[in-house]
Amino acid sequence: MPSRFPVEGRRFVIHAVVTLAIVLAITIVAGRFAPWEITGGNVVLRAQRGMTHEFPSPEGGQLTVPRNNRHSIDLGEGPRPRNVILMIGDGMGVGQFSAASMMLHGPDGHLAVESAPITGLVRTHAGNNLATDSAAASTAMATGYKAPKTAISVLADGRKPVTLMEAAKSSGLGTGVITTSGLADATPAGFLVHAGDRYQYAEIFSAILETENDILMGGTWIHHTKARRDPAYLELVDRVDELGTAAGYHVVHDESDLAGTQPPVLALFPPRGTRADAHGPELVVTTEFALEALGSRETGFLALIESELSDGSGHQNSISGVVEAVREFDAAVAFAVAWAGERGDTLVLVTADHDTGGLGVIDGDYEDGRAGVRWVWDLHTAQWVPLFAFGPGAEHFNGVMDNTDIGVLIAKLLGIDHFPAIHP
Ligand SMILES: [Zn+2]
Repeated sequence: MPSRFPVEGRRFVIHAVVTLAIVLAITIVAGRFAPWEITGGNVVLRAQRGMTHEFPSPEGGQLTVPRNNRHSIDLGEGPRPRNVILMIGDGMGVGQFSAASMMLHGPDGHLAVESAPITGLVRTHAGNNLATDSAAASTAMATGYKAPKTAISVLADGRKPVTLMEAAKSSGLGTGVITTSGLADATPAGFLVHAGDRYQYAEIFSAILETENDILMGGTWIHHTKARRDPAYLELVDRVDELGTAAGYHVVHDESDLAGTQPPVLALFPPRGTRADAHGPELVVTTEFALEALGSRETGFLALIESELSDGSGHQNSISGVVEAVREFDAAVAFAVAWAGERGDTLVLVTADHDTGGLGVIDGDYEDGRAGVRWVWDLHTAQWVPLFAFGPGAEHFNGVMDNTDIGVLIAKLLGIDHFPAIHP
């Protein structure tokens, strides 16, 4: 029986295999000593040999809490706020604020956040990853503990520590959560409920409806791809009038319905167009409504106000989207800061859960304030994010801190004693 390959063909195959093996060997050996590596299609600079840093070994998926944390800080006799407003720009890193400031207001800038008397920088890593996601970041701020990515206020060991919002509510404070994203999305969810995974949308949304907060405002999130694939979640959204009313809420779907509506309010706004990260009126409108509604609480309140838009724009590497996101967010910040400034009893904290895209301003037109930008990639980065603090207690947020410190400091400042992370 004749061979399927003539001798020439067999020689060619052997030659090709040997050549491939040599090229592979050279690539591997050279790669080991190169100052870069290629991960998921991205070129990543490697620390120079002898300068690599050993991270603490993760036990059960959790990195050890850094020693310079503020968990055991004694606040002393300084001023304490009656109310705390925590504002989170999702994916809004230093690059996003810088670029938007230059493009909206010119080189000298004029964002509301730029008037902050106290600024800080925040480490954002997750319990099991340097680049976090909104779930682990929300958990860190809401509970004061690091958690693995995708966890909604559930730690690596299964513990479900009480969240800031839960603790504030049981302490008698007013509570409000406002977002341009879906109410079941990771950032609001981490402050409101507990779930092993952020993608359990139906469980998360139905748990949120049972939380009995004063103000819940967010989107239906029906255009979000993963939420759309969860029929149980979509059914809950369809039935939200009935379910929300049964849970004691005044259910609202439109900006025009807000006037005269008293808490408890559950606002579930439709998407702006076909967007998954933008719903309902501008954030300044919902912010104003929430602060007016919560501001009369004698016992004080805790409000979380989130803009989701800059994360989506970061993932798309859309600079125009980022500028628009910062503009909308900063308008809400301006309102909150002015509102709080008139009262003198309210701490306003503005930060991000993580950076998205690693935006850098590289050049531009100085006169026009037009900035040229570059993106590192289209996912979250592990870079520090800014924090801007206004009002009584702001001074504790100066310098570099961990995102877990934010929850701990808020609990201490509000005198919420049953917050597990303040008892190290
Ligand atoms: Zn993201």
